[in-house]
Amino acid sequence: MILLIFGPPGSGKGTQITELAEKFELTPIPSPGDLFRKINDDEIKKYTSTGKLVPDELVAKLIFGEIGDKDNFILDGYPRNLNQAETLENFLKEKNKRLDYVVYLKVSEEEIVARISNRRVCSKCGRNYNLITNPPIDNKCGCGGELTLREDDKEDVIRTRLTVFNEQTQPLLEFYKDRLITVDGEQNIQNVFENICKELEK
Ligand SMILES: [Zn+2]
Repeated sequence: MILLIFGPPGSGKGTQITELAEKFELTPIPSPGDLFRKINDDEIKKYTSTGKLVPDELVAKLIFGEIGDKDNFILDGYPRNLNQAETLENFLKEKNKRLDYVVYLKVSEEEIVARISNRRVCSKCGRNYNLITNPPIDNKCGCGGELTLREDDKEDVIRTRLTVFNEQTQPLLEFYKDRLITVDGEQNIQNVFENICKELEK
C-alpha cells in the first residue's frame, strides 16, 4: 500500500504516520524538510541557507531515492504542489505502482490556533507542555524553569502558516479526489486512527 497524509501544523499528523506505519507495515518516507537536514548536501544548502525554495527536480531526486523499489510506504509533506504530484504519478506509473490513498486530517483553523497557542516550552530544559492537554504545575517546569511561548507558536504566525498550507493543499485535494479519505482530525488521537483504519480496510 502507498499512502500520503496531509494535515495542517498541529493536526497530530506525525503520530498518525507512526501508528499507520506500524499497523500496515509501511516505511515512512521522511518529509523533504527532514531529508534536507539529514543529508546536509552542499547543493541543497545553497537554497535552504538563503531561504529559497529547493527546486522541484532536486526534491524529486531525493524523495524518489528514498522510495527506491519499496512497495509499501507512507509519504509526508511530498508532493506539495501540482507539479510535484504529477511527477510522482509518472514515477510510480513507470514502476507499475500507484498512490492508493490520500488521507487528509481536517482540523478547523480555530482548533489549530487553540492547540498551538497553548503550547509552552521550558526556557531551561526545553521540555514541552500544553496548557490544556499536558498542563504544568504552578505554571513552571518540573526543573523550575520558566515556560515560554515559541515565536513560531504565536497566533499571527500560526494563521500565516495555515493560509500557506491551505493554498498549497486545496489543489492537491482536488487532484487526488478519487482516492481521498477525509478524517475529522478534531477527535482524540485514537479515534482519528481508528477512522483512518476503517476507511483503509474497506
Ligand atoms: Zn524545564
